[in-house]
Amino acid sequence: MKKIPYGRHDITNEDIQAVIDILKSDWLTQGPNIKLFEDAFAEYIGCKYAVAVSNGTAALHLCTLALGVQKGDKVITSPITFAATANCVRYAGGEVIFADIDPETYLIDINAVRKLLEAEPMGTYKGIIPVDFAGRAVNLEEFRKLAEENGCWIIEDACHAPGGYFKDSFRIKQNCGNGNFADLSIFSFHPVKHIAAGEGGMITTNNESLYKRLLNLRTHGIQQDPSKKQYDHGVWYYEMQELGYNYRLTDIQAALGLSQLKRATEGIERRCEIAKNYFEEFRNKNFIVRQSGDIEGHAYHLYVIEINNRTELVNYLRTKNIWAQVHYVPCHLMPYYRQFGWKEGDLPHAEEYYNRCLSIPIYPSLNESEQAFVIDTIKAFYNN
Ligand SMILES: *Cc1c(COP(=O)(O)O)cnc(C)c1O
Repeated sequence: MKKIPYGRHDITNEDIQAVIDILKSDWLTQGPNIKLFEDAFAEYIGCKYAVAVSNGTAALHLCTLALGVQKGDKVITSPITFAATANCVRYAGGEVIFADIDPETYLIDINAVRKLLEAEPMGTYKGIIPVDFAGRAVNLEEFRKLAEENGCWIIEDACHAPGGYFKDSFRIKQNCGNGNFADLSIFSFHPVKHIAAGEGGMITTNNESLYKRLLNLRTHGIQQDPSKKQYDHGVWYYEMQELGYNYRLTDIQAALGLSQLKRATEGIERRCEIAKNYFEEFRNKNFIVRQSGDIEGHAYHLYVIEINNRTELVNYLRTKNIWAQVHYVPCHLMPYYRQFGWKEGDLPHAEEYYNRCLSIPIYPSLNESEQAFVIDTIKAFYNN
């Protein structure tokens, strides 16, 4: 049996040709494919503006800069996420406050966030970074209300959820990253995510002034709008107005992302089928404490099962060449964050989840017999 990872990319001949075409063109970076990719992505998500950047972490960093995070600013996020979600606050000198998860959804618990906000004077917390963990959309309508009551901004980490949605209080579908509730949303095009570009990221928003600021920050803080220049020395003149970075995406990556985007809807459909199948196969099994389920609007970047004897199961699966993975080691228990006083027992739901969670293979090219093998192997381990 060939190796079955928890997730993997899927490259077609059309994707390869799209990259080759760029290599033969005049632009390897800062060419026409960036805007084409941004526009197509904005249309797919249903937002006004999209800014392509070098990776998801750079996207998060630019968001904290555009929103003006300063030294000492407190920002709330989930401990069950990739470290980059928290780290972007630190890049800007801010302080990360973790709020516990809801044990049923694995998403940041709005009541835990509310409790933090209510315990301190207004203005203590500057922002909230909810994560559409595993591909399940956070109900951002509720978070928007809470954020507004407390003068906070929202950055939605939607890396797991392009194509995911929740239904709002009017039962209207709200796509992850559509800009209706979050100030800014971010996505990643790392090969393990839904859309692979090698490396890559995207920021989406409906806010024009944040959009323009992000365009400048992506390229060293050089003003991209000619009418906003303070001086004019001639046709060659460019003007750096604030400290930015080189967080550009190459046209090679944008072409690959654009080609992959055409199959995004198909990919989600396949992910949902795989998820439904796991859910049915495991629903009445006594070795399953909880599982991701069959949930409307879930983009199924990951399929999580909660089980006992996880270490033994992981090791057993490896002997069968199934590479399940744990998502995530809670951020607050990383040595880096422990130095700020975080410790075991601070976030009991996140820690209990961490003790039992396992992400089992889910990706569009996982075929039926491979999935059946994964299911049978897990059942065999538990003699079930
Ligand atoms: C992948 C990921 C990131 C970082 O994206 P990169 O493109 O790898 O920098 C941030 N947050 C979450 C939730 C992710 O899964």
